[in-house]
Amino acid sequence: MTESAGASAVAEASATCEGPTEADWEAAVAAVRELPPHARVLLVCHVNPDGDALGSMLGFALGLRRMGLRHVQATFPGPHEIPQPFQTLPGVELLVPAEQAWTDPDLVVSFDAASAARLGCLADRLLTAPQCLVLDHHASNTRFGKIHLVDPNAAATSVVAEELLARLAVPLDAEIAECFYVAVATDTGSFRFDMTTPAVHQMAARLIATGLRPGEISRRVFDSRPFGAIRLYGDVLRRAQLDTEAAGGRGLVWTYATLADLERHGQQAYVLEALIDSVRCAIEADVSCVLKQVAEQEWAVSLRSRGATDVAQVAVALGGGGHRMAAGFTGYGSARSVINTLRATLDRLCAN
Ligand code: 5GP
Ligand code: MN
Repeated sequence: MTESAGASAVAEASATCEGPTEADWEAAVAAVRELPPHARVLLVCHVNPDGDALGSMLGFALGLRRMGLRHVQATFPGPHEIPQPFQTLPGVELLVPAEQAWTDPDLVVSFDAASAARLGCLADRLLTAPQCLVLDHHASNTRFGKIHLVDPNAAATSVVAEELLARLAVPLDAEIAECFYVAVATDTGSFRFDMTTPAVHQMAARLIATGLRPGEISRRVFDSRPFGAIRLYGDVLRRAQLDTEAAGGRGLVWTYATLADLERHGQQAYVLEALIDSVRCAIEADVSCVLKQVAEQEWAVSLRSRGATDVAQVAVALGGGGHRMAAGFTGYGSARSVINTLRATLDRLCAN
């Protein structure tokens, strides 16, 4: 995914932090309610979709189907590879490859994308569609749609999606609930992170009350990986580096995974998403980082903070975005040069 560092850094830095107003909610409800049953609704989420992107999108897609909308497509940019843990999500049959997505839908709804660049080749649909809605929870959201339901205080985009379905009077059922549960569990680290407010647990209670089984879902989504992935984790974690001087003395721990690592162990890229959760445990470093090779000279970079460093600010400065404690960007060049650039940015921002 390519984002020009300059333009997106400026745009994301100037984004507001306010949640949706009552007028925003009313506009969003009207945009959906006004659709005739034969309207075509295209739902899109960010590249390399995670549990919140897919879960919020598919749960909402099912909600629209329950409202009687007959033509609902869901899609994401890039190769049409659905990460294995999400292949059994309800509504997955509504997913189509980006190349097959309607070019002239009546409504486009974007999920969990902080900027148009995160939607890759699908970004133009938001410009050309007669109506478009952006559901998100990133403070760095650039407000690239027409109607915005962007709540930086929401733990996940699915929190926003659940409220919109409630305002549309669509009852939760076990299928919609499973999608939203996977989404909120993903983004809160299974209800461990700071944004796990009473409201998040109240939402989880509503979802679980539909009859879903949290243990079974967590085992499937978080705790099921091929054995080859375990061997791959061993290789990648063994090469982790700790630099206690970095980030103005707060410390940086980092590692990288290459396409050759994936090939050697016969694994798909989604298995790499779990690595950052091991790396960020190092108490000697406030900032943790995993570089995941996407192409010869291109890396998807995950950043995490243990609290002192605002990694969203760091990611935005490098052309990406995210949240204070979890953010990311795309790095170009060798792994070493991406780390050097990251280190320089950390030194600059942490010195302030
Ligand atoms: P992860 O490290 O789990 O991929 O992402 C952590 C957070 O950073 C998520 O909120 C994700 O949306 C955001 N993020 C990751 N990579 C990028 C990127 O390249 N650009 C932007 N704008 N956000 C990113
Ligand atoms: Mn999210």
